[in-house]
Amino acid sequence: MYGPKCATRTLRPNATRSFSTTSRFQAPSSLSINAGRLWETLHKTCEWGASHRYGENTRDTGMARLTLNDDDARVRRWFADEVQKLGCSLSVDQMGNMFARQSGKLGSSAPMIAMGSHLDTQPRGGRYDGILGVMAALEVLRTMKENNFQTMFDVGIVNWTNEEGARFPKSMCSSGVWAGAIPIEKAWNLRDIHNPDVSLKSELERHGYLGDIECSPKGYPLAAHFELHIEQGPILPANERKIGIVQGAQGYRWLTLTVQGKDAHTGTTPLENRHDPLLAASRMIAASNDIAKKHGALASTGIIRVPSNASTNTIASEVAFTLDIRHPDDHVVNTVQDECLNAFDSIASQDGKGVSYNWTIDTDSPAVKFDKNCIACIKAAADHLVGPEKSMLMTSGAGHDSVYTSQQCPTAMIFIPCKDGVSHHPTEYSTPEDCALGTQALLEAVVHYDQSRAYEGNVI
Ligand SMILES: [Zn+2]
Repeated sequence: MYGPKCATRTLRPNATRSFSTTSRFQAPSSLSINAGRLWETLHKTCEWGASHRYGENTRDTGMARLTLNDDDARVRRWFADEVQKLGCSLSVDQMGNMFARQSGKLGSSAPMIAMGSHLDTQPRGGRYDGILGVMAALEVLRTMKENNFQTMFDVGIVNWTNEEGARFPKSMCSSGVWAGAIPIEKAWNLRDIHNPDVSLKSELERHGYLGDIECSPKGYPLAAHFELHIEQGPILPANERKIGIVQGAQGYRWLTLTVQGKDAHTGTTPLENRHDPLLAASRMIAASNDIAKKHGALASTGIIRVPSNASTNTIASEVAFTLDIRHPDDHVVNTVQDECLNAFDSIASQDGKGVSYNWTIDTDSPAVKFDKNCIACIKAAADHLVGPEKSMLMTSGAGHDSVYTSQQCPTAMIFIPCKDGVSHHPTEYSTPEDCALGTQALLEAVVHYDQSRAYEGNVI
């Protein structure tokens, strides 16, 4: 179904050796993933954790497979069996990350090329976020195995623990530990949000997933990390594209602003005599939206806090609100922040007798640029499968395990469309065709990368 249009495979072209010209490599014509098997496998495994029925068909449900609950343990055991049936070795590290590894032709002990994502979901999640990435990776290995195709270097799959951070509140938790960005003790000590007696570590122990391999690139090194994921947004369908070649993730900065005024009677205090922090905060939020729009950035307020003893007929004494600024370019994030603060200065003195405010930065996550060679391999696959007019370069709006792996190994991602951009919701949906296309792109990207790596290393 997704076999290449051209079966020619040139392994030693005359062109100068450059890793980025991988488009000269073609996946072998026999390597075509099995779309039906992928679809069946994905939905069969969603029986573990199926929840939130929204339609009459058996599969019209979302998912509630929270990290290391009993259903997550069941799908993990199933996954372990399946990869072992394929002849993979399986390693589990101290965070329960599962590494399945298929030997390459060279028998090299060099790190494997990984295809990774996560099997855990949000409490009201869907069937595709994360799950597709792991099932697609499994389908790639199954396809290689049944075609007696061996990559040159080892390839494999990673199931990252607690990507969602829904039960144990730290998202991209275990790829973060692996990358050295989150201390393992902190991650182990995360508590179940509904039961403080249960820690992430105690759940790893209960299910037998507290491995002894160090959770780090030293403990389990990766040569590269490819992740197929649903877009979780509307950009691909809006542009009528089938494959997103993800070049990185946007930078984001979270601020908390606290606006101080003075409580006063709403009936007896004339407008010009007020210090009204809620009015000022409202204007500040509206201004941040205008400024973000001007720069093609995003600015959002998710939380407004007023004192718990606020009342209808009293002007609030103090208001705090959050501001989340995002853009693929860190300079733009800085500019939006500066312009917002300038605008807030002026707003603070606009109404009545004015207000004062202060601000703090809570989180600062710089923009992430994925690896150009991995991107080139995905682009070569996309060009081959759908052509440049049906694929596009894009930036991830959300965090993914790949954001952390990119700190330690060459990484890039493939996006496919999901219906109406809906995700983290039971009705999340991608068509069987799009799931298959993304999986075929994953396979071809990995084969390109492997061939380029062998070529660069003079082993083919
Ligand atoms: Zn995800």
